[in-house]
Amino acid sequence: MKHIPFGRPMLGAAEQRAVCEVLEGPVLTHGDRVREFEQAFGEFTGAAHALATASCTAAMQLAHMAAGIGPGDEVIVPAQTHVASAHAVELCGARCVFVDSEPRSGNMDLDQVEAAVSPRTRALVVVHYLGKVVDMSRVADLAGRHDLFVVEDCALALGARRGGCHVGLLGDAGCFSFYPIKHITTAEGGMLITRHPRIARGGALRRAFGIDRDDPADRDLPGMYNVSELGLNCRLNELSAAVGLQQLRRLPAALECRRRNLRLLCAGLRELEVGDVLGEDDGDGGPGDYCLVLRLQRAWGDRRAAIMSALAARGVGTSIYYPRPVPLMSYYRRKYGCADGGFPVATAISERSIALPIGPHVTEADVAYIVAQLKAIVCKAGAP
Ligand SMILES: *Cc1c(COP(=O)(O)O)cnc(C)c1O
Repeated sequence: MKHIPFGRPMLGAAEQRAVCEVLEGPVLTHGDRVREFEQAFGEFTGAAHALATASCTAAMQLAHMAAGIGPGDEVIVPAQTHVASAHAVELCGARCVFVDSEPRSGNMDLDQVEAAVSPRTRALVVVHYLGKVVDMSRVADLAGRHDLFVVEDCALALGARRGGCHVGLLGDAGCFSFYPIKHITTAEGGMLITRHPRIARGGALRRAFGIDRDDPADRDLPGMYNVSELGLNCRLNELSAAVGLQQLRRLPAALECRRRNLRLLCAGLRELEVGDVLGEDDGDGGPGDYCLVLRLQRAWGDRRAAIMSALAARGVGTSIYYPRPVPLMSYYRRKYGCADGGFPVATAISERSIALPIGPHVTEADVAYIVAQLKAIVCKAGAP
């Protein structure tokens, strides 16, 4: 039997060597690896400014802080996302205003954003869900008319471009995740990219306590500095950055692999007729695609848990992206009092979808195996 996990980091001798080299020297933070990783990431995306952080969540919080968002402000956030997109807003003391998904791709329904804008709205968080790029020209129009700061959560979209521009540079600040099963990994880690020098400076300051001279090399006297702002401690370390540099070299081939797997898996699932694939008709099937989300028809949806268990028993790892609309998670429900039924499209995705693997660890033969196993499970169960 095959064993195909939902996600698996691409690690090898290059990463091992890179980590060992760091450990041979005394420099674990504030070093060249972080600067090189930022520069390489900037080159890959085309960003003028790139700041390595401890996580995507931290990068998003820095973006909001650097934009001056805080208590009394409202930020529009999609309901169907990782809780991090909303937590980053809450941690700044601002309020989230949630918007449902549009049915086709599961991305935020831009038709509903206008109605969510109030005089207190300061920013809009756009999530390129599953790597499908949101219509950023419409976002730019909305943001322009209401003077909104646009943060792109690109945690699932590394490699995706529109009109030659990498995601994260279509809005005001773009944030990436290097969690183990994302497109590339540094164990934990993230990156903030931006075109705006002001956001880059504000982010850099707040990445290290708000200290005016974060790099010890910039201090007149050892240990001498001032603190000009409230900040976090969310730098990336040298070990992680060394891994990230090697991961970037593997990225182009990995993106190609994801794209091929997505195309093959889509074609195989089409014949099954148990549901639809989110964003399938997106045309170019962007290279940033992260996984395949199969939204089961209502009757099959009731059997989702059984289908996922049967797949697991046959060695196929799956996941759910994401398990519940964020406003219906207990913390947010307590705070904002959102009722069931408030986010019908996002709820249907949470309740009836299965995320299938397309990462670079998945071979063509694995894709065929996944389709065959699903077919067997569905046939055995019989039409609902
Ligand atoms: C994984 C993920 C995050 C969180 O990233 P961390 O690096 O773990 O903080 C944020 N947003 C989305 C959409 C994600 O999928």
